[in-house]
Amino acid sequence: MRKHIVAGNWKMNTTVPEGVELAKAVVAKSAEVPSDVELIIATPFTHLYPVNEVVKGTRVALSAENCADKAKGAYTGEVSVDMLKSTGCEYTILGHSERRQYYGETDEKLVEKTKLALAAGLKVILCVGENLEEREAGKHFDVCNAQTVNVLKNFSAEDMKNVVIAYEPVWAIGTGKTATSEQAEEIHAYIRKVLADMFGAGVADDVTILYGGSCKPSNAKELFAQPDIDGGLIGGAALKAEDFIGIALSF
Ligand code: PEP
Repeated sequence: MRKHIVAGNWKMNTTVPEGVELAKAVVAKSAEVPSDVELIIATPFTHLYPVNEVVKGTRVALSAENCADKAKGAYTGEVSVDMLKSTGCEYTILGHSERRQYYGETDEKLVEKTKLALAAGLKVILCVGENLEEREAGKHFDVCNAQTVNVLKNFSAEDMKNVVIAYEPVWAIGTGKTATSEQAEEIHAYIRKVLADMFGAGVADDVTILYGGSCKPSNAKELFAQPDIDGGLIGGAALKAEDFIGIALSF
């Protein structure tokens, strides 16, 4: 059976002391959340080690927001998967639309990053999703198909045990505009079918697919009630422990 997950993506927010306090607040409230919901917080690189000191031994897992596409060496400013692993983090987000849009993240780079992350023992939260223009042109299925297949065709059914997918329509990220539960479910079910065609129905059924895009306590319940929506990747609302936990209480 696939897992329910609520993952917070802090993006480039909070100083290290603020992040440590936020993590403490999330841990303090995490006992309210049913034990079958996995809680993850994804922090900036600088925060990983000190935040891990807060979350280790608790039910809150730690994630990075990105990783390098090279293993090690002369790549100034990059952070490798081994470095991430050494902070205690368990996951990394890859392919977030902000990385695709502002930092030239291509599917080819994501293949390399995913290979390195999985080989290092990190689990991957792979983000896919169409922008507004693509949605309005009716290309959302094709875009999600291409982003999913281009990366995951390089991986096995066994690898998929360590991959979570986040469907994040770009037009809903940080805009306050949430996809309706019907719009989100339609794409989640479609992505699951794409996975079934690639890896078989059993594997597809076990992959956790998260929704991301202006998810908040007030709309999470309806989204999470959909059969193919297994939780959320949360941006803005993850910066307040109360809202983040409020979303996790929506199953
Ligand atoms: C995100 O960036 O992953 C996200 C879903 O952001 P927000 O919740 O702020 O729309």
